[in-house]
Amino acid sequence: MKKRILTLIICFCAAGLFSGCGILPFAEDNPFGEKDEETIEAVLPTATPTPEPTPTEEPQEPSEDEQEEEGTPLEQAEHMAAQYDYDGAIQLLKEQDEYETNQKMQAAVAEYEGIKATCVEYPLEQITHVFFHTLIKDTSKAFDGDSDEAGYNQVMTTISEFKKIIESMYEKGYVLVSPHDMASVNDDGTMSRGKIMLPPGKIPFVLSQDDVSYYHYMEGDGFADKLVLDENGDVKCAYIEDDGSVSIGNYDLVPILDAFVEEHPDFSYHGRKGILAMTGYNGVLGYRTDIAYKTGENLQDNQKEFLENHPDFDYEEEVKQATEVANALKANGWEFASHTWGHKNATDSTAEELKTDNEKWEAYVAPILGKTDMIIFAFGADIGDWEGYSMDNEKFAYYKSRGYNYYCNVDSNQYWVQITDQYFRQGRRNLDGYRMYYNPEMLSDLFDVSEVWDSSRPTPVPEM
Ligand SMILES: [Zn+2]
Repeated sequence: MKKRILTLIICFCAAGLFSGCGILPFAEDNPFGEKDEETIEAVLPTATPTPEPTPTEEPQEPSEDEQEEEGTPLEQAEHMAAQYDYDGAIQLLKEQDEYETNQKMQAAVAEYEGIKATCVEYPLEQITHVFFHTLIKDTSKAFDGDSDEAGYNQVMTTISEFKKIIESMYEKGYVLVSPHDMASVNDDGTMSRGKIMLPPGKIPFVLSQDDVSYYHYMEGDGFADKLVLDENGDVKCAYIEDDGSVSIGNYDLVPILDAFVEEHPDFSYHGRKGILAMTGYNGVLGYRTDIAYKTGENLQDNQKEFLENHPDFDYEEEVKQATEVANALKANGWEFASHTWGHKNATDSTAEELKTDNEKWEAYVAPILGKTDMIIFAFGADIGDWEGYSMDNEKFAYYKSRGYNYYCNVDSNQYWVQITDQYFRQGRRNLDGYRMYYNPEMLSDLFDVSEVWDSSRPTPVPEM
């Protein structure tokens, strides 16, 4: 019990002082999304209007390549079995007309039955959850000595670090799962524990990325500009080069992880990827979809500047493109969570304030990303303590009434999971510059910091 209280303090320190969400170091003075407070010291966008990347139209139509990629029933079954979906693989083969006479299919089914029999149920309370912010593509721009450098150094991770982290975790046997595998919601709104079956030695984990908004303040600091669809309908990043030209590639977590799972399907359980925790006040996924960009009301300075620099801005087109990207993400194993619309501190906010905030998420974010039953608290700031939520917790009662059943905070423990018949809760670990620099030993179950560390980071990483 004592240990639990102690770790809770650490957890809330983590949430309040460093890293609950990366925007934190700036947030003390700069309440992002709080529109009534005009305070954000943003890095001003470059004066040159930035050319808009043009995602391909009609991404829903799978290309011939994609249809070929799906392959024969045997190949599809092999892929499903590689992702531990033995029942799905077996069912697919048994459904085929030629199954009774096809020895290859029968042999495959026998093989999958054999592997399935060796699988063990993984203890849900021992499943870790790691999270990242937008990855740094160009460290020379992020670490250029301007006022944002310290924050990026503390709470961001570079592309090179991320690639080494997932490689290490893969080699250790980690497998991506979703909170939706760990608990399910029943028709009456109650919840039941899930069951994750994996071969011995495999270790399920949850991955999330916060603030996939490509906020205005990050412009010109070496981050991707938005997520787009390439000519194959795959989700990639658009990155604006110094000369204003747009490069399309794997410049942030989503396409990097997609490529990794493509190469190593057994890094994903039943096709799961990660959870993207989304605010709304600067739009989503790099698209300026908040209603303020349409009405022109209550605009922050950097939003005004964006609109001035983009005289051809077309709100409806922006929403359409964002929706296409969101649909492609969901079709490819990604899920969305609310990170509150305005990056609110849910601990400090009243229930009424959270309600007002959530109504904006439902009005301007949900139509693009779809409904979600998950909240990833901004700043890691939870609505209750470790003992749990009850219906006399007004904030919980409100969120539950709006269909939220999964709640994630920030906790420095290796794992912290709470599953009741009313909700699922999980603590998350920040894998960022601050944690790697100050507490490398806390990450040794995942990777060796000395092998991952990006030497272009200025040291020491500033204290928080
Ligand atoms: Zn955040």
